[in-house]
Amino acid sequence: LTERFSKAFAKVENSRKLTEKQINDFLREIRSALLESDADYDVVKDFLKRVREKALQEDITKKVSPFEHLLLTVYEELVKVLGETVSELKKGTVLFVGLQGTGKTTTIGKLAKYLKDKGFKVAVSSTDVRRPAAMLQLQRLAEKVGVPYYHFDEGLSALEIAKRSQAKAKEDGVDYLLLDTAGRLHIDEELMEELSSIKSAVSPSEVLYVADAMQGQEALRIAKVFHEKIGLTGAVLTKMDGDARGGVAFSLRSALGIPIKFVGVGEKLEDIEPFYPDRIAQRIMGLGDIQSLIEKAQQAIPEDEAQVLATKVLTGSFDLEDLLKQLEFMEKMGPLDKLLGMIPGLSAQLKNLKIDEKIIKKKKAIIQSMTKEERRNPLIINMSRKQRIAKGSGTTISDVNKLLKEYEEMKKLMKKLKNAKGPIGIPRLPF
Ligand code: GDP
Ligand code: MG
Repeated sequence: LTERFSKAFAKVENSRKLTEKQINDFLREIRSALLESDADYDVVKDFLKRVREKALQEDITKKVSPFEHLLLTVYEELVKVLGETVSELKKGTVLFVGLQGTGKTTTIGKLAKYLKDKGFKVAVSSTDVRRPAAMLQLQRLAEKVGVPYYHFDEGLSALEIAKRSQAKAKEDGVDYLLLDTAGRLHIDEELMEELSSIKSAVSPSEVLYVADAMQGQEALRIAKVFHEKIGLTGAVLTKMDGDARGGVAFSLRSALGIPIKFVGVGEKLEDIEPFYPDRIAQRIMGLGDIQSLIEKAQQAIPEDEAQVLATKVLTGSFDLEDLLKQLEFMEKMGPLDKLLGMIPGLSAQLKNLKIDEKIIKKKKAIIQSMTKEERRNPLIINMSRKQRIAKGSGTTISDVNKLLKEYEEMKKLMKKLKNAKGPIGIPRLPF
């Protein structure tokens, strides 16, 4: 979907004035992209109608180009369709449903931590009686988070476990009881019956559908069945750290009207965040997840240093000293491929690129072998200086040359980002 958006945008990006035909072609592209990502037909029709009307309106109050106007319009409407941020969960018993492998158990672990960190009293329990390993998985997660896992004798039915867990949670004065359920590889009657009976017995405050973002069309189809039979109050979109860019969010939200409450972005316990429609809209449009990037960066970079760095990027005074700092931040921030997906304008094919952490170490070594003066003003680095730097860092002159060239490209790129009005393609990664 993102790629299609990027392509559609690329066609109109440089036009000074958009003809009606250009707008129509653009909208047709967006339409098939959205439909291919399993959005509801009527919603897409509505969506495009609104965009079209707005796009044709000449907005003289805003000083934007026709392209920017179109871009903003699609963005604003997408955010609208995606709904608001509603990451609050109603206190009580929260039931997690979905097919096997979508991330239910993992999500319960993450949310247990998320809610506990907010100061709530949390307990978890599993009704996945057919798979002892799945129950053990939840028990381990609960131990890690430090919340009670309700354990019952073997042989109890899923329904009985649900009832007893709820009674125990009440006794313990728990704010949230997170209840895991069995997943199947496909929808079957027995599973639905079991869920229905659990639902009527415990009257959950929330029934959350856990959807794997990589599932595509399947996720929506299955969600529909769950919604009809059980009734859903919200969804959690998992594996958004992968290639999937959020088309499923648009579909789930628009076709079923249920809010997406959380987004899973990795396998670790802290890899969960509230659903922010503006971020997903940016991702769908290929604008990059700017907000997440900023927040992520601020976690690793002290605030004032982040400010200084941002100013340097904006004023173009970014030198090798800053590059060194950035390399250090990148190391601290962990897996780079995760971050790459958040960089504005980075296209899908680049996302698959694995970044070698060793290369970062090497680049750091090269800069560290330079004098302060050289770092501030790389232009003075002549052949003999290069020789010295290569020797000092245990690299070759061509390595040094490469780094200097990449620095130049990075500066160019920053200039471009600074002036960018819409999504831009990054020609080559600086690392
Ligand atoms: P369940 O069968 O629905 O309970 O699924 P699990 O919680 O056991 O998860 C299945 C697999 O998906 C596990 O390997 C998880 O680590 C992985 N997983 C779950 N959520 C995420 C996520 O947000 N990102 C990634 N990358 N993997 C996830
Ligand atoms: Mg499970």
